[in-house]
Amino acid sequence: MIKVIKNGTVITMSSNREKIENIDIVIEDDKIIDIVSNYEGVYDEIIDATDKIVIPGLINSHTHLGMSYFRATNDNLSLQDWLNNKIWPIEDKMDEEDVYYGSLLSIIEMIKTGTTCSSDMYFFSEAAVKAIDESHVRCLFTRCLADINNDGDKRIEEFRNLYNKYKENELIKFSVAPHALYTCNLEYLKKCSKLAFELNLPVHMHYLENRQEIEDIKKMYKMKPLDVLKKSGLINNKLILAHCTFLDEDNLKAFKDKDISVVHNPISNLNLGCGIADITKYKNYVNVCLGTDSQGSGNNLNMLYHMSIVDLLQQGIHEDSTVLSSYDVLKMATINGAIALGLEKEIGSIDIGKKADIILLDMNDSLTSPSIDIITNLVHNAYNNVCMTMINGNILMKDKELLLNIDENELIKIINNRIKKLKS
Ligand SMILES: [Zn+2]
Repeated sequence: MIKVIKNGTVITMSSNREKIENIDIVIEDDKIIDIVSNYEGVYDEIIDATDKIVIPGLINSHTHLGMSYFRATNDNLSLQDWLNNKIWPIEDKMDEEDVYYGSLLSIIEMIKTGTTCSSDMYFFSEAAVKAIDESHVRCLFTRCLADINNDGDKRIEEFRNLYNKYKENELIKFSVAPHALYTCNLEYLKKCSKLAFELNLPVHMHYLENRQEIEDIKKMYKMKPLDVLKKSGLINNKLILAHCTFLDEDNLKAFKDKDISVVHNPISNLNLGCGIADITKYKNYVNVCLGTDSQGSGNNLNMLYHMSIVDLLQQGIHEDSTVLSSYDVLKMATINGAIALGLEKEIGSIDIGKKADIILLDMNDSLTSPSIDIITNLVHNAYNNVCMTMINGNILMKDKELLLNIDENELIKIINNRIKKLKS
């Protein structure tokens, strides 16, 4: 099956080309096979991209898809109060079906806003992965690991079963995810590190989300968080560290020559009063990518909305408008995310040979016209402008119409009924 995205303005996010106008992208099945002016070969489907912006699908490097029930529930609460009072009591009552439907809602939100791949960790993972598999979206998936009630080994066993079941899946890859240092212990972290080496998978975890967490870890382990990473062996794994709101010089220097990526989650950090990660500094030491966290703390999974905040925050805290460009931010949401997830050979840019994870944005409306500096306008204003989403060559939204086999209105009713029940 040959599809041609015709006559678009393409921002490739590739190392050698930034923006190409009036160009055709030729896709055979799941792959980009040519990028050419006026393609005249055979085709099965033309996608007219005239006057539209074409970019690689966005990569959300830190999500909890099953948590859509908690959308915007974080008013006036610290991270610890929010988890203890708003999240964990309800999560205790959730079942497989809750997570399945919650994940479906998140997946729809991602497709509508141009995210084609996420890095997800949660529980009831069989239900979440079923939603991901049925929707044909790309995901670096995992079962969240922790050792809170001496059930750590059981969780690892569940993870292994899940991994063995889905490891050949084309769109679903895996990470190993100890939830955070404060929900594990040293022996358990060592097990997680070994498991990731054994299966050659990256490790995805929360790290230094707020100051309180740093103190809790010091009390719990009688050592600094960085020393816990070193002692457990995790520092030598390929690490995807979500948040990192406070990385001091010691952390940054220790991370510099390692395979470590920081996932910046600015709205979640702001909402929970955690602080602002100085990613302008971090990017000199590590690969920095972008995540939304769940809708609970991040309000939504709309990466385009979160991208605008990234740029503004850094310029504000540094009192310097030159520290980060819109292009840098777009990189965080595309190729840097792919590098973090270990998928940079497959996704993250529009290049011949890569998977066809591509989105189109129609900027021809009153809220985004005129579009003179395309990348700046896209990063700051295009929250509602994604009109086509393609994953692995499959079109999942076209002309803003979802092509999934899901009744969206029915799903919203199901979610509303389920959260009412969970809160009662
Ligand atoms: Zn998180």
